[in-house]
Amino acid sequence: MTARILVVDDIPTNVKLLEARLMAEYFQVLTATNGADAIALCQSGQCDMVLLDVMMPGMDGFEVCKRLKADPETAHLPVVMVTALDQPEDRVKGLEAGADDFLTKPVNDLALVTRVKSLVRLKMLTDDLRLRASNGDELAMNHYQVMNEVNAPKEKPNIIVVDDKAASYEKMVSTLSINNNVEVETNATDALFRIVEGGYDLAIISLSMENFDSLRLCSHLRSLERTRMLPIIVIAGLDQEEVTSRAMEIGVNDYIKRPIDAQELLARLKTQLCRKRYNDCLRASVQQTIEMAVKDPLTELHNRRYFEMHYTSLFDKSVSSKKPLTAIMCDIDKFKAVNDTYGHDVGDAVIIEVANRIRKSVRNVDIACRYGGEEFVIIMPDTDIEYAHVVAERIRREVAEHPVIAEQGSKQIYTTISMGLSSLEAEDDTPQKLLKRADLALYAAKHAGRNRVMTQAA
Ligand code: GH3
Ligand code: MG
Ligand code: MG
Repeated sequence: MTARILVVDDIPTNVKLLEARLMAEYFQVLTATNGADAIALCQSGQCDMVLLDVMMPGMDGFEVCKRLKADPETAHLPVVMVTALDQPEDRVKGLEAGADDFLTKPVNDLALVTRVKSLVRLKMLTDDLRLRASNGDELAMNHYQVMNEVNAPKEKPNIIVVDDKAASYEKMVSTLSINNNVEVETNATDALFRIVEGGYDLAIISLSMENFDSLRLCSHLRSLERTRMLPIIVIAGLDQEEVTSRAMEIGVNDYIKRPIDAQELLARLKTQLCRKRYNDCLRASVQQTIEMAVKDPLTELHNRRYFEMHYTSLFDKSVSSKKPLTAIMCDIDKFKAVNDTYGHDVGDAVIIEVANRIRKSVRNVDIACRYGGEEFVIIMPDTDIEYAHVVAERIRREVAEHPVIAEQGSKQIYTTISMGLSSLEAEDDTPQKLLKRADLALYAAKHAGRNRVMTQAA
């Protein structure tokens, strides 16, 4: 795992020092000695992460961080603030400016490498999701909506604290309870079960529990599908540097050292929760994009694109397994008149209701899709034309016998559909020919007076 790290510091010696340490870990390193250059490098997309000195003449580190986090182009870049040891309030200020983490000077090697690695890992995940969330345009458009959701969640986050020392967890609970629902679990084994059960947005786990190796719990949580993405913050006791770095290697998201600083706890919690919500939003958007690509938005039936992707393979499968396959083409009768009489919205409601009645009558293995405006096609594998006729007739009756209720019940619209059927027949049949015959049958049904099911042989 490598990444491009931007090191920003006005003092060249500091830059060289960090550069050498990161290069020893095979990271690629870029450097800048002032805020403006740093922002320009980030905007040009040349780096994956920023190590940012706080004290710089002109634009200080806080300001650089704020600007990076306010720009949709750079907001996702992890920023680590490098603060002076004698300025503890800087850490909180940095996290509030949107920084993802901080390091104190002189920079501890272990802390540098573990924090950089953990943030790079998260950045890769986020990048992956950003890429997959369509071509990025849609995401850019949604950016402010996503960010709103991320920064101002509708519900209080659910936090579980795993710690067996009352003096320690009681203080955390009182700090966290203001903005979160907090639960405590003192038994690590029970904690695993509770967390896997779900419902938590974040876990805080003490690394110093009596008779229990907390790392085991962390590694369990990281390996289970259901909790793989759960943010975990571990609480490290004094002299637990070794265990802490192991925890970071296992993939926990962050650590806090005792004695716990309430401000720092809240700020780190906020960062992790934001990141989780950001990723949740991205995942939902990826899911939506996938669905949108194959679903008709009005009826939620499959769209024509989906049909075209799957029809041929269903056809081929039926041919090779010598099983029947039937196509049904379906078209709403005199639909133009519905639009003309009641308006387009009522027309839409009729299309939706016809689609629902079709959906109720088909099996999961069938493909039912909206083929065009008020046309539908159903492909039924493993189904001969006699049985398909029964199904089609049932749908026809369902539509003809029950009016569509529109405009909050104020309108009842009676409508009918015509259907044409064809089945896989001769050796030289093709998907196109089969569909063409169903279309001819539909045409015949229209011609014969509509509201009927007709079949067409080859
Ligand atoms: P036929 O019985 O011969 O099928 O007559 P028809 O009026 O149903 O057929 P025609 O193809 O002439 O008209 C279909 C109409 O469907 C025309 C078009 O404006 C309307 N339409 C297509 N898509 C939609 C839609 O999504 N919503 C609404 N409300 N109307 C649509
Ligand atoms: Mg029609
Ligand atoms: Mg039509």
